[in-house]
Amino acid sequence: MGPLHDEDVPRWWEALGLPGLIDIHTHFLPERMLRRVWAHFDDAGPLVGRPWPITYRWDEASRLAQLRRLGLRHFTALTYAHRPGMAADLTDFALKLAATEPDCVPSATFFPEVGVLEQVQSALERGARVFKIHAQVGGFDLREPVLDPVWGLLAESGVPVVVHVGSGPVPRPGFTGPDKLEGVMRRHPGLTAVVAHLGAPEYAEFLALAGTYPRLHLDTTMVFTDFFEAAAPFPPELLPRLAELPDRIVLGSDFPNIPYLYAHQLESLDRLRDLEPALDDDWLRAVCWFNGKRLLGV
Ligand SMILES: [Zn+2]
Repeated sequence: MGPLHDEDVPRWWEALGLPGLIDIHTHFLPERMLRRVWAHFDDAGPLVGRPWPITYRWDEASRLAQLRRLGLRHFTALTYAHRPGMAADLTDFALKLAATEPDCVPSATFFPEVGVLEQVQSALERGARVFKIHAQVGGFDLREPVLDPVWGLLAESGVPVVVHVGSGPVPRPGFTGPDKLEGVMRRHPGLTAVVAHLGAPEYAEFLALAGTYPRLHLDTTMVFTDFFEAAAPFPPELLPRLAELPDRIVLGSDFPNIPYLYAHQLESLDRLRDLEPALDDDWLRAVCWFNGKRLLGV
């Protein structure tokens, strides 16, 4: 059985024979900005859609300590911009955090704006090992021409980019949906993209893309939890697909912006075996450790 409380998490990964966990989708932001993001969740703002009480509304030191207590050996500091002119500062923040917290993987972001290619080049030179962009919050189409050379550069570098382009929690016509990423992958089939939230709610379409593009991955962020199942349930008939792609599904959580305990994400993954026996201990080991290790190069 999966862990019910955060204190039970280390026992859970120990029982799997793992040295800990690797989470590709956690967030750190400059404190003032994080407060603003939390205010959006509090108000169930237009891009959030429903009440979303944040469990880990703590200061940065306490949040870092909690990830270490859970046994996260490597995690990310994903940031993302909602308008032009922010991405460079967010990248500076994330790279600085990684410089003082060695278990935090150097993370970066970008936005379709003048100078974006130079910004991404600079982030790579400063050691960025994962990027994040958010088409739903940012309000842009991944296929914007100014991003085309960026996708090319990232494909060449092999550095993964976590992409929120699914239509959850609230669709933004013109910006979200699988066709946007498909357009990018068609031009840059070698891009190491990680589809956030398993592409919710367009699970089937994004899993089909993963069948076409071997470098396409999907993260588990919030998927299968009671909270997500209530709004965007994962179709049970797709569970065998997850078992067929054991090297392409990677642990993500959205810590700290989650309305439940971290343990519940793991419990939700562990209980999948009741519905699909092939989602067994080996599958969990790949998802919770080996795939993240390979993607992040840690
Ligand atoms: Zn997230």
